[in-house]
Amino acid sequence: MYFRSVTFRRQIPLLVAILFSLLLGIIKVTSEIKEIRELQSRKAFLATAPNIIIIGWDGVQRDHLWECFQKELPECKKGLPNMEGLTSGEVFDITVTNGETETTPGWPQILSGYSAEVSGIFSNDDQPALPKGFSIFEKLEEYFGEDNIVTLYVSGKGAYINNERIDYLQESAGNNSNVGAKALELIEKYKDKKFFAFFLFKDSDSSGHKFKENSVEYSEKIFDEDQWLEKIITKLKETGVYEETLIYVTTDHGFDEGQDKHQNAPYGFLATNDPLVIRGGDRKDLAPTILERYGLSLGRQGNIPAVYGYPLSSIPPLSCIPEGEAFLDYPNSPKCCQDLRLIGLDKFKDGKCLLPTGGRGDGSGYCTKCGDGQCQKPENKCNCPVDCSG
Ligand SMILES: [Zn+2]
Repeated sequence: MYFRSVTFRRQIPLLVAILFSLLLGIIKVTSEIKEIRELQSRKAFLATAPNIIIIGWDGVQRDHLWECFQKELPECKKGLPNMEGLTSGEVFDITVTNGETETTPGWPQILSGYSAEVSGIFSNDDQPALPKGFSIFEKLEEYFGEDNIVTLYVSGKGAYINNERIDYLQESAGNNSNVGAKALELIEKYKDKKFFAFFLFKDSDSSGHKFKENSVEYSEKIFDEDQWLEKIITKLKETGVYEETLIYVTTDHGFDEGQDKHQNAPYGFLATNDPLVIRGGDRKDLAPTILERYGLSLGRQGNIPAVYGYPLSSIPPLSCIPEGEAFLDYPNSPKCCQDLRLIGLDKFKDGKCLLPTGGRGDGSGYCTKCGDGQCQKPENKCNCPVDCSG
């Protein structure tokens, strides 16, 4: 008896350990089952979700695009028929209110929805890629599982995002023909899968730099990009997936009116066949629009911060725009809160004031306490001299 109970007592720690590991095992299996169920419901949702293609037309000024679209320019006698066909005529205004009107801050912002303060990309001088996990691509791979969605990225310029999880990424692909040909090839290859793609055409921007914004050459490259839109749409129709594919054509920034640069060119556009898009908005607003389309949360997820923009499918749920934030000029947009003043998107660069150009009649700006004697961002010498000139 005595020996037996000693033996038993000796075995207690062992029994506890066995029970504990059994319990851990049960918890693990239960959470794995939960994860599998969760992934199954995400996959079921994905099966009903659209393919999405973002087509970038780099550096296309809103006014110039519109003049070409409306056939007002002699070299644009045909207009932009494919953009017109995609949208049934309505092209939305997109405006840059955060980060420079340049490529390096532009595309990452469009492909993530983060402000420059969060991404760390303010201008072309900054590190040229988003932090890991920030882009729509990575979020989709994480949420739906690597094997369930195909992410594609072909850029005539840089990559701008963390590329580890992207299924196909080609940067520096070169001119429009190279990017377009690769886009068609990839659509053909992945027509039977659910895909999210970004195709960046850069010739518009290059042409603006070389021949200036008002040049015939600039119009010609925009027209060329419209032709590539047609080829992409035709390919989607041939492969039978056009009806289940949403296309968003947009730009990263505009062009300084009549100039060969885009120092303060915040006026861009968005053309889409997404029937849920009801308004223009901010460069930050496309990513949340797409994340919402795929059922992903816009809030913080672990280490990944909340997205900053608002989906273009509704008016942002703000009674008014708070201090320091941007007011965007579209029908029924929220206005500056009562004690704030609307100031312009003017920039102060190299000792000079640069007015924003390329978006005639656009009243977008910032809501600030301009006049309170303190010069606070985004106030500067040009848009709030009363606070910032001293
Ligand atoms: Zn450029």
